[in-house]
Amino acid sequence: MPLLVMKFGGTSVADLDRIANAAQKVQREVERGYDVIVIVSAMSGKTNELVGWVEKTSPLYDAREYDAVVSSGENVTAGLMALRLQEMGVPARSWQGWQVPINTTSAHGSARFIDIPRANMDAKFAEGFKVAVVAGFQGLSAEGRITTLGRGGSDTTAVAFAAAFGAERCDIYTDVDGVYTTDPRITSKARKLDKIAFEEMLELASLGAKVLQTRSVELAMRYKVRLRVLSSFEDTDETSGTLVCDEDEIMESKVVSGVAYSRDEAKMTLVKVEDRPGIAAAIFGPLAEAGVNVDMIVQNISELDDPADKRAYTDMTFSLPTNQVERAKKAIEEATAAGKFAYAKLVTDTDVAKISVVGIGMRSQVGVAAKMFAALAAENVNIKVITTSEIKISVLIDRKYMELAVQALHDTFELEKA
Ligand code: ADP
Ligand code: ASP
Ligand code: MG
Repeated sequence: MPLLVMKFGGTSVADLDRIANAAQKVQREVERGYDVIVIVSAMSGKTNELVGWVEKTSPLYDAREYDAVVSSGENVTAGLMALRLQEMGVPARSWQGWQVPINTTSAHGSARFIDIPRANMDAKFAEGFKVAVVAGFQGLSAEGRITTLGRGGSDTTAVAFAAAFGAERCDIYTDVDGVYTTDPRITSKARKLDKIAFEEMLELASLGAKVLQTRSVELAMRYKVRLRVLSSFEDTDETSGTLVCDEDEIMESKVVSGVAYSRDEAKMTLVKVEDRPGIAAAIFGPLAEAGVNVDMIVQNISELDDPADKRAYTDMTFSLPTNQVERAKKAIEEATAAGKFAYAKLVTDTDVAKISVVGIGMRSQVGVAAKMFAALAAENVNIKVITTSEIKISVLIDRKYMELAVQALHDTFELEKA
């Protein structure tokens, strides 16, 4: 029997009416002859509420109990979706992660898949069940405890099931009708893309476009899953939405295909650290050990204000998520107390955002960076840090200019035009 994976995000299962609406879409595919694995998120806002309860109860919480609590939102929607389908006459059964089982690593809060044995679910399909409704975002560790996959993780659950069960397609139903040239909430000029290459989607997701979790795109790319993003609120058919696919399935592509932003960035500068071999390792080693996700890094020459001091100095600037600033400060304090390095001053800026332009066409086109910087200059937006890779350019700017910068870049690269 051909099989489809259909994933419904939080806003698509936000209340009983929306669950009923999603169930109708599932029923339609069953009527077309598919077995369906449905992956559900928690009702929108639920996971945030659960995280809040955990943090209020125990600020330095035990990550195993965090997972026990925050995974529960998905259990509710899985059961409700199965009940709704049964009421419509569709044979459906719900599955929590441990029942499948969805085997993951023990990295609570950011676990990764190990495998998804098919036997239990295959047996249920063989009994005549047409739909398996799986709670997204959760899994089971080797120690027998519930794990979660990181925020937005239900997308990754969906792709993992599509790969494990050889699904014909993995459809991600959400509150927008596809992947856009930028977040449609930032500019009404954002244009829906019919297709986007895995590499581009991977960059956009990791640079902040939360329409798909980064890991889901990685898995889809590796296991050649046909991945589609489409609206749960509109009538849809085989041609709806955006297909995430191999580069060679896309006829022509523009130099820049999308603009992404990440709001919650911070920048830290260690002023006047000694410029010697091993200094970067001395700084970033302890940060990595403390679990700080350092992103962009720049090293500058520091001005020599003391002519008697013949040593060379440098300033080291790096960016990180805003909520990791305290952890980074603690790691720096401990490393300097242990004599690993010294610095004159630590400057922290928590009011920055990262803006990125992405496109596989950049591989063969020069001048994209210059055009991007000129567009930002024309809006009087100061660039604080720059990084580039083969298919993306990212800049750090003051957060108050974030929307303006996204709009200016969208205009400059004419992304509203097909
Ligand atoms: P779900 O709850 O269905 O998982 P998410 O809120 O995680 O939905 O992701 C969908 C949201 O992603 C959209 O509402 C949109 O604001 C945002 N988004 C950011 N960048 C893009 C983009 N390039 N294209 C489409 N949506 C985007
Ligand atoms: N409910 C989880 C979250 O809000 C997982 C998901 O929706 O993908 O992060
Ligand atoms: Mg999501």
